[in-house]
Amino acid sequence: MTKQYDLGIIGAGPAGYTAALHAAIRGQNVVIFEKENIGGVCLNKGCIPTKTILHASEVYKQTINSEVLGITTSNVKLDYSKVIERKNIVIEKLRKGIELALKNARVTVIQNEAKIIDKSKIQSDGEIYDCKKIICATGSTPKIVKGLEFDHKFLLSSDDILELKNLPKSILIIGSGAIGIEWSRIFSNFGVETILIELAPHLLPLADIEVSKRIERTFKTDKIKFYTGTTVEQIQNGNVTLSNGEVFSPEKILVAIGRTPDSTPKIDGISYLGDVSGEIQLAHYAIKQAIKEVDGIEFYKDFVPSVVYGTPEIAWTGKREQDLEGQEYKKSVVLVSSLGKAWCDNETDGFIKLLSQNDKIVGVHIVSKEASALLQQIVIAMQNDITVDKLKEVCFAHPTYSEGIFDGLFKI
Ligand SMILES: Cc1cc2nc3c(=O)[nH]c(=O)nc-3n(C[C@H](O)[C@H](O)[C@H](O)COP(=O)(O)OP(=O)(O)OC[C@H]3O[C@@H](n4cnc5c(N)ncnc54)[C@H](O)[C@@H]3O)c2cc1C
Repeated sequence: MTKQYDLGIIGAGPAGYTAALHAAIRGQNVVIFEKENIGGVCLNKGCIPTKTILHASEVYKQTINSEVLGITTSNVKLDYSKVIERKNIVIEKLRKGIELALKNARVTVIQNEAKIIDKSKIQSDGEIYDCKKIICATGSTPKIVKGLEFDHKFLLSSDDILELKNLPKSILIIGSGAIGIEWSRIFSNFGVETILIELAPHLLPLADIEVSKRIERTFKTDKIKFYTGTTVEQIQNGNVTLSNGEVFSPEKILVAIGRTPDSTPKIDGISYLGDVSGEIQLAHYAIKQAIKEVDGIEFYKDFVPSVVYGTPEIAWTGKREQDLEGQEYKKSVVLVSSLGKAWCDNETDGFIKLLSQNDKIVGVHIVSKEASALLQQIVIAMQNDITVDKLKEVCFAHPTYSEGIFDGLFKI
C-alpha cells in the first residue's frame, strides 16, 4: 500500500530538516529520508566537527602562550583522542536535538536511502511514498580530481580528516578556501608542521584582496608555510612535487579543493535545495532556501555572510574592493589594534573595512576576533537600506569590537 504525504524530503541536512520542521509547523504531513546521519554534512562532517576541533586547538595554543597574560603553565598535555571524543559528543548532542524536534513536529523520519521516481513519488526500501510535493536536499561530496584521488589513508578528504585517531607530524593541505584555511589553523595550533598550497595568486581567493593579504601575513606570523600560484605536479611514493620544483614528504595530504553537488538527475516539478542546488555551498544558505521554499520568506542573496573561523576570525559580505574597480566608492579601514577591547583580549590582529556607494554600505570585510558577530550587525543595515548617516546615530557599547564599525562610519 502506498503511503500518502503532503511533503517528501530526501536528505536531512540543514536544507532538509529545516524544510521538514517549517512545513510540519504549518500543519503538513511530512516524511524525510536520510541514508546516513540526521544533520547532514554540516552537523556530522562539516561546520560543527571542524569548529569543535578548532576550539580545542585554540585553547591548546592559548594555554601554551598564556605567559603574556601573567599565567604560567607547565606540562600542558594534548590528548587528541579526547578532542575527537568530545567532538563526537557535541555532534551526538546536537543530532539528538534535531531528532527530537522532528519527532515533536510529528515528521516521519525514514533512516534509509531514497530515490525519486517522479515528481510525486519516492521509493525507499521497496516502499512507495506518494507526496504532493518533493524536496531534494541531498547535499554534496568532496570533489575528486585527477591525480588527487583520495586513498583515504595518505590522500585524505575533509571527511577522512575527521577520522584521524592521532595527529600527523606534518600535513600538506591543497586548497585555501574556508576548509583549507580552517584545517591549516587547526593543525598549526596543535603544533603540526603545516604546508598550504593554493593555485590562485592569493590565499582565500574568494575574499576581498586586502583580507587575503592580511591572512597571508597572519599565516607568516603563525609560521604556516604556504605557496600561492602553485600546484601539485606529482605525488609519488609519499613525495609531493610542487610546480615550483619544491618537494615535500608530508605524513598526510588533505585535499580541500571544493565539493561536488549530488548528481541526482534533475526532475521538473521538484525543488532542489542546499548544496545540491549548485548555488552557494553554506549551511545558512541552505536553511534560508528551505525557509523561502516552505514559508515564502525572501532573503537577499547579495548579502549572504561568508565566515572563516580561527584566530582572527574572517567574515565578509557584499561587494569586495576588486568588484568595484572602475566605479566610484568610498572606503574606510579601522585597525583592530586601535580598539581598547582588542588590547584587553590580546587579540589585536586585523581590521574592519567598510565600502560604500551613495551613502550606503555595499561591502564589509572583517578580520578580527568576533568577526562573524560583527558582520551580522552590518548585514541588517545593508539589507534595510540604512544610510551611513543614519547608522552614525546608533550607540555602540564600549569597550567592544563593534566600536570599530562605529569608527569606520566616520572615516568613510
Ligand atoms: C569541512 C566542512 C566545513 C564546513 N563548514 C561550514 C561552516 O562553517 N559554515 C557553513 O555555513 N557551511 C559549512 N560547510 C558547508 C555545509 O556543511 C553545507 O553547505 C551544508 O551541509 C549543506 O546542507 P544540505 O542540507 O544542502 O546538505 P548536506 O548537509 O550535505 O545533507 C545532505 C544529506 O542528504 C543525505 N542523502 C543524500 N542522498 C540521499 C539519498 N538518496 N537518500 C537519503 N539520504 C540522502 C546525505 O546522507 C546527507 O546527510 C562546511 C562543509 C565542510 C565539508
